[in-house]
Amino acid sequence: MAQEFLPYALPEIGEAEIAEVVDTLRSGWVTTGPKARRFEQDFAAFLGDAEGLHAIAVNSATAGLHLALEALGIGPGDEVITTTHTFTATAEVVRYLGADVRLVDIDPATLNIDPAAVEAAITPRTKAILPVHYGGLAADMPRLLGIARRHGLKVVEDAAHALPTLCGGRLVGTLASDATVFSFYANKTITTGEGGMLVTRDAQLAQRARTMRLHGMNRDAFDRFTAKVPSWYYEVVAPGFKYNLTDIAAALGIHQLRRAHDFQRRREALAAHYDAALAGLPLILPPRPGAGDSHAWHIYAVRLAPGAGIERDRLIERLFEAGIGCSVHYIPLHLHPYWRERYALAAADFPHSQRAYETMVSLPLYTRMTPADVERVAAALRAALAAA
Ligand SMILES: *Cc1c(COP(=O)(O)O)cnc(C)c1O
Repeated sequence: MAQEFLPYALPEIGEAEIAEVVDTLRSGWVTTGPKARRFEQDFAAFLGDAEGLHAIAVNSATAGLHLALEALGIGPGDEVITTTHTFTATAEVVRYLGADVRLVDIDPATLNIDPAAVEAAITPRTKAILPVHYGGLAADMPRLLGIARRHGLKVVEDAAHALPTLCGGRLVGTLASDATVFSFYANKTITTGEGGMLVTRDAQLAQRARTMRLHGMNRDAFDRFTAKVPSWYYEVVAPGFKYNLTDIAAALGIHQLRRAHDFQRRREALAAHYDAALAGLPLILPPRPGAGDSHAWHIYAVRLAPGAGIERDRLIERLFEAGIGCSVHYIPLHLHPYWRERYALAAADFPHSQRAYETMVSLPLYTRMTPADVERVAAALRAALAAA
């Protein structure tokens, strides 16, 4: 009898999340209000700096990245350097603002942006570096921040995979960059269905992002109904966006956040189980975090070693035949028609990302998986590689 399909990803939503959502629905306040505010406060406290950090809840990480770059004044004529080995959201926000994207290659050991490639791509138009913590392993932030300091560049971290991730003993979100953006999309390490959080120590950046998050109005709807100034009064100071997080989503986030460390430990245990079960196969296993670092394990991507004897696409077919969902992170941006054509990009310009893409498979990794699920995936991989 065929086994049940093992999906690539599943959220873990508990009774506390469900009860909080029901409470929100009964409260009469369903859009941005007290729970979104509490989620922001809890998030800053989670990062260990409730005083110094501004946490701004938004309806996606894409929105948060857009707001951060907008607040930093990125616009036409400017360039932002980022990795080709990411999801298109990382780069598209630069184009929203009329600025240009400079894609660079990765370090094949970590799959994170290569600091040397970043430095080589700097031009007089460069304004910012936008690193991604691929899979949940921190990019080389000490070197990237050093490059930014030397060249007078801003740094915005795409931390969509990195909750929680330690970098040199400090949580991503508390480093010396200008802003850090987390995602709570359905398959991320914690979820609000759709949602994100922009974190910054820069009070001016925070104020601009709060204003632009809601139509360029100088206060949000919650303030309007609780402050002493006339409840109907607001001023529009810019053509802003509609990026606020609802209290329904924040209700989920409040409880997901409380479980973030537990989720991380369980993902880490599953990753260690994969490492042991896959040892000896012709696979390149994911890089381990260095001293002082930790891994959020959003993605567990293996790469076929030279001589593995099977094509990546065929391997994915074999896994699907065994009832196992998997994915590829990512089809590099330089291969997508929009990016390729706009910047006349060629695969040969990104040899490490290209090689990783051609050989990689992301295996199922989520908290609802059991050790037996890991064994099942490992067995299917062993069978596919043995038959190759
Ligand atoms: C998921 C993801 C995003 C976008 O997050 P949303 O919350 O869906 O907007 C951005 N960058 C990376 C690397 C992602 O994986």
